[in-house]
Amino acid sequence: MKILKFGGTSVGNPERIKNLLSIIQPGDEKQIVVLSAVAGTTNALVEISQAFIIGDKQKAEALIKGLRLKYDAFIDDLFATVEGKNNGKELIEYHFNFIQSFAQELFTPIEEKIILAQGELLSTTLYHFYLTEIGVRSKLLPALDFMKIDEDNEPVIDYIGEHLTGLLKTATDNNLFITQGYICRNAFGEIDNLRRGGSDYTASLIGAAIRAEEVQIWTDIDGMHNNDPRIVKGTKPIAHLTFDEAAELAYFGAKILHPQSVFPAQRYNIPVRLLNTMDPEAAGTLISENGAAKGEVRSIAAKDGITAIRIHSSRMLLAFGFLRRVFEVFERYKTPIDMITTSEVAVSVTIDDTRFLGDIERELKDFGSVEIDVDQTIVCVVGDFSLNTHGYASRVLDAVKHIPVRMISYGGSNFNISLLIKAVDKVEVLRSLHNRLF
Ligand code: ADP
Ligand code: ASP
Ligand code: MG
Repeated sequence: MKILKFGGTSVGNPERIKNLLSIIQPGDEKQIVVLSAVAGTTNALVEISQAFIIGDKQKAEALIKGLRLKYDAFIDDLFATVEGKNNGKELIEYHFNFIQSFAQELFTPIEEKIILAQGELLSTTLYHFYLTEIGVRSKLLPALDFMKIDEDNEPVIDYIGEHLTGLLKTATDNNLFITQGYICRNAFGEIDNLRRGGSDYTASLIGAAIRAEEVQIWTDIDGMHNNDPRIVKGTKPIAHLTFDEAAELAYFGAKILHPQSVFPAQRYNIPVRLLNTMDPEAAGTLISENGAAKGEVRSIAAKDGITAIRIHSSRMLLAFGFLRRVFEVFERYKTPIDMITTSEVAVSVTIDDTRFLGDIERELKDFGSVEIDVDQTIVCVVGDFSLNTHGYASRVLDAVKHIPVRMISYGGSNFNISLLIKAVDKVEVLRSLHNRLF
């Protein structure tokens, strides 16, 4: 079984949706196709939800109308037959009436997540209808019947595997399955999601849960590049990455992959390919267990929205158990730490989830003085920095010698050097590192 995930741009207009078949090539092999919402839809649904949250029903209505007009045109182009067009229209009618109905309700984060789920429900059903119209057999697998996260928002792989296998067994004579990326149910059975960009995570989770042969992430670029192509000119695709390298890049901001999407595939050693829908012949990137970079820099990524916290305490001097007590504060508020640096009298950490920052700060003040810097960015350089290499740290630092650096992390693993800088310096740092390292 192969898992093929197509992102928002890959299903972004009717022509692209029609072209997917040339990649999928339905045949004897079993495939699960994971679709994102049509490009722009989830952003629009976020805006609609925000309008509902502030109680601006008029604005919500205007936004809903605007989005609906796009879908009306979409189905007109997608379907050729009267029957197809009517099925499409009915579907659009149903989902948009449903979204509109939230004007009447108390609007909480629960309702918001229901609205955010409509994009993937629409794209997958439209594709299923389209395949039916042109006589290609497929079966829709409702992600809400198998994709599950627990009370810590962690996916429950065994549950996913069991329920998905059960669904697949109900259609053993079918080879092409279609399901929604991004959406899931949480520990309370409510509709939830895997965070923005989560369809990559869905594909990897499905691959892991049913021990698929391969996961393919089809997107709008020819694989993982060696720097952020939106910011730096002349970036190049990387033919091969290890799971560890790819996980670091995804986690530290390479938008092509959802931050957590490498881990499930890595756990069950399932190769992941990043491929380009607009150029299917391009080699893309293969992510697998072996083939780590030897003595070279692989790629640079940046993660925004970082807050740095420095705890300065004389009690740290010669004290054991101090760091544990500091980390316990973050644990109590379920707030993950990304970077850590220590000196004899102070420790600095970074977080990106600031929901409990006030509480964390208050508790940390028991240890000493606390300094907080917002609007920071982690820049992460991934490559082979193992013991038998040398000179990389100095090249990295040399590239940023004209920029204030708040933290440096080296040696945590053999393949990552991270810098914490001000967000305003990100563009310059990415460009300067690119010129110095490649
Ligand atoms: P999809 O909608 O298919 O999930 P995304 O927009 O989430 O696509 O991810 C693909 C985009 O990621 C690319 O168009 C590119 O601009 C951006 N990107 C950022 N960093 C990288 C990188 N290192 N390599 C490739 N693409 C990257
Ligand atoms: N549609 C969702 C988003 O825009 C999920 C995804 O595209 O992966 O974030
Ligand atoms: Mg994406």
